[in-house]
Amino acid sequence: MTDVSMIIDGERRTAPTTFAVVNPATGAVHAQAPDCSRDQLDAAFDAAARAFAGTTWSRDEAARRAALAQASALVRAAADRIAPVLVAEQGKPLAAATMEVRGASYWLKYFSRLELPREVIQDDDRAFAEVVHRPMGVVAAITPWNFPVMLASWKIGPALLAGNTMVLKPSPYTPRSTLLLAEVLAEALPPGVLNVVSGGDELGRWMTSHPVPRKISFTGSVPTGKHIAAAAAPDLKRVTLELGGNDAAILLDDVDPAAVTEKIFLGAFDNSGQICSAIKRLYVPEALHDDVVEALAARAAAAKLGDGMEPGTELGPIQNRPQFERVGGLVADAIAGGAKAATGGAPVEGPGFFYQPTVLVGATEGSRIVDEEQFGPALPVLSYRDVDEAVSRANATSFGLSGSVWSADPDRAGAVADRLECGTAWVNAHVALGPHQPFGGSKWSGIGVENGPWGLASYTEAQVRYRARS
Ligand code: NAD
Repeated sequence: MTDVSMIIDGERRTAPTTFAVVNPATGAVHAQAPDCSRDQLDAAFDAAARAFAGTTWSRDEAARRAALAQASALVRAAADRIAPVLVAEQGKPLAAATMEVRGASYWLKYFSRLELPREVIQDDDRAFAEVVHRPMGVVAAITPWNFPVMLASWKIGPALLAGNTMVLKPSPYTPRSTLLLAEVLAEALPPGVLNVVSGGDELGRWMTSHPVPRKISFTGSVPTGKHIAAAAAPDLKRVTLELGGNDAAILLDDVDPAAVTEKIFLGAFDNSGQICSAIKRLYVPEALHDDVVEALAARAAAAKLGDGMEPGTELGPIQNRPQFERVGGLVADAIAGGAKAATGGAPVEGPGFFYQPTVLVGATEGSRIVDEEQFGPALPVLSYRDVDEAVSRANATSFGLSGSVWSADPDRAGAVADRLECGTAWVNAHVALGPHQPFGGSKWSGIGVENGPWGLASYTEAQVRYRARS
């Protein structure tokens, strides 16, 4: 039995079977979620196709804007209901979970107001021509477990504003907050416009090989992103892939370690390091290395770990057991290779997937924790001699999501940041995101962007409308 339902064609639907959802703060099963059957997935795509082709949804922009504005208000009003569900399955502190739900509301509001791009490209004696953006049809959306509610809104907002309909699947690790979100949104959206189904990776594979969707919008890991690109190819489905990162932050030699410690700490450890664009490698000039490590280790050691429902918790657990074991394995591998933990370096004893916030010194390129995406509360600090060397080491990776440069002189930092090969280059900030900023990665970090007019355009097909005049 489960107390949350899928939403298919505007109706709440249970499934023939359920699957267990674990609370990462205890390591124990705390609830169930519906395990969508293949027939139910077909019904969801059928409902989405009918809502797209058989109703006024795709043609009535004003109605879509009104629905998204109402959706935004409903989500904000439901923050206190959705946030504890998010804490119980994801692990993050309640305040962060509430912020996440409010963030989703904010994103929906932004998209309810964003202009659909339309541009006159010729207006002369020969012709009038403009470029408009038509919806694609049904979108299949697949999300990960680190920000399930927020990342769903990044897809729902632009896809629906553009006139598409959607079938969305959250991660099997965090399905319930998204199902609750869908229940709230169903009050504002016509039946079939947004269908939300839950299940495992197999359900994701069914979605990406299904004949109905014209586009797949995916946020998750690089290996899954590659599978999805391959699954999309035979039908030439469009894809947006928001994948992993291995972000470098480079401190320049004029940085005051005390002044940047808190921001660097949050950039690396917020959400227990489980942010695609978190700082995953910190490059520090040799002269500053020891001071930076000391300050950062002290801050990390003081962080209050705990169940997200406990007041004062700063960092929750790692979200799931495989990820918990992976982070532990990467730290152990680094230490076996000669690195040292300035703080942390081990799991926390007791129930749940808690790992001590870890600052590593002496790890080098070639070690897994530097070369791979750790996606957890463990940060290698790497010293460098000159800035050119730091930039080339920062760029020597298959990832290219984002990066940052820190300095007392923002112009100096900006000149270095301009050389980073990644989708977002910050100066004196990291993980500073907004719905108006196109977010995406170069190289293996993804294909395409989300957010802003650029993200909106990716849910459309450009059409030239040409009228001859002579
Ligand atoms: P994941 O790739 O394991 O799973 C993501 C989703 O894909 C889940 O819903 C899963 O069920 C589904 N899935 C798995 N295999 C599939 C397949 N073959 N076909 C279709 N669907 C499939 O990722 P995760 O572990 O849930 O999330 C962590 C990863 O996500 C990290 O690498 C992180 O960097 C990345 N991420 C990226 C962004 C971004 O915007 N770039 C944001 C958040 C997370």
